[in-house]
Amino acid sequence: MAKIQMKTPLVEMDGDEMTRILWQMIKDELLLPYIDLKTEYYDLGLTYRNETNDQVTIDSAEATKKYGVAVKCATITPNAARMTEYDLKEMWKSPNGTIRAALDGTVFRAPIVVKGIEPCVRNWEKPITLARHAYGDVYKNTEIKVPGPGKAELVFTDENGNETRELIHDFTGAGIIQGIHNTEKSIASFARACFNYALDTKQDLWFATKDTISKKYDHTFKDIFQEIFDAEYKTRFDEAGIEYFYTLIDDAVARVMKAKGGFIWACKNYDGDVMSDMVSSAFGSLAMMTSVLVSPSGVYEYEAAHGTVQRHYYKHLKGEETSTNSVATIFAWTGALRKRGELDELPELMEFADKLEKATIATIESGRMTKDLALITSLKDVTVLNSGDFIKEIRKTFEEM
Ligand code: NAP
Ligand code: MG
Repeated sequence: MAKIQMKTPLVEMDGDEMTRILWQMIKDELLLPYIDLKTEYYDLGLTYRNETNDQVTIDSAEATKKYGVAVKCATITPNAARMTEYDLKEMWKSPNGTIRAALDGTVFRAPIVVKGIEPCVRNWEKPITLARHAYGDVYKNTEIKVPGPGKAELVFTDENGNETRELIHDFTGAGIIQGIHNTEKSIASFARACFNYALDTKQDLWFATKDTISKKYDHTFKDIFQEIFDAEYKTRFDEAGIEYFYTLIDDAVARVMKAKGGFIWACKNYDGDVMSDMVSSAFGSLAMMTSVLVSPSGVYEYEAAHGTVQRHYYKHLKGEETSTNSVATIFAWTGALRKRGELDELPELMEFADKLEKATIATIESGRMTKDLALITSLKDVTVLNSGDFIKEIRKTFEEM
């Protein structure tokens, strides 16, 4: 059979440890035999990031802006232990942080739903995609521990030196204060990324804040979303048969628990941090969670939500067998290939991505899976496979289809 041809290359960002091993296996077994794979390769493995003073990460982000679609392997974010382990020149920043800053993007995380791995919430039938605003609020705060009585004020000085003041509190004893901020530009980018993604995936969009209490701060989020929606997206949402709705955060939480799934839940930075861990663990496993970074200009970077699975890698290095789940990494590739197919009008490439995802899910649903899933599945008589055999079984299922 002739291989599927591509037009534009994908930006391929290789990574670290066990996921780097899976990366190669996925390419060899599931992609290269079927696709004339065109990629522009960037090695984001820590060794090469260190060699290039992290220039390779910046280059890969620039290439993503140029081509529009990237697929990324999990990478190490250096800490003190990694400094010694890799003999690093510097404690390089998180590649995800660098790429996110360059693309000004929003991260959407969605679980891969399979029969036999049931969500804890019984009525969740479809995935819930969580969109987290990745700038500001408590993550860029300024704090003071107040030692004793005194007056705390919020002061803004404009470019001409004019001051605006608001009393925070007249302290009669010790206490604490915190200053947080956000920018209209960042909130607007977040809103557009969410609206675009909803249109792209034909799902309803929910957004919630606490605007009844925070009448200026949170209310600004609500207003910016509504203004952009009315001006730029309302007609397109109507045409696509999808809905945008705003509610209070506590109401949203209550509704999410009762919902069937199949929508996007946009959250402010802190809500997104907390709720994405809640939603992902309730769906079963971090290894079954995909993640895509979408920029307001419509650039996409696909990856798995989990890390480099370090513990498994050390076993692998000792020659021991591993059973590492490659599903989220496979779905990162299929997500990127499908998007490339869509942009380049290559229906075969899109069909290939759909089929490979179906084969992956069918393999698990037939009882063949990695150890992490075998531990939580409701299926009986499952076969636990090692990292390589699981990928080979997916190929078998794919060939049968
Ligand atoms: P991790 O790689 O996600 O792994 C944590 C644990 O979760 C593993 O030890 C394993 O549990 C389980 N797990 C995660 N993914 C799995 C998979 N695909 N198959 C089977 N089990 C899986 O997180 P970490 O150990 O905290 O971080 C390791 C490195 O990854 C760090 O250097 C961190 O900086 C990096 N990281 C990168 C990204 C990214 O690039 N997006 C994200 C997060 C972390 P058991 O050991 O119990 O089997
Ligand atoms: Mg968190």
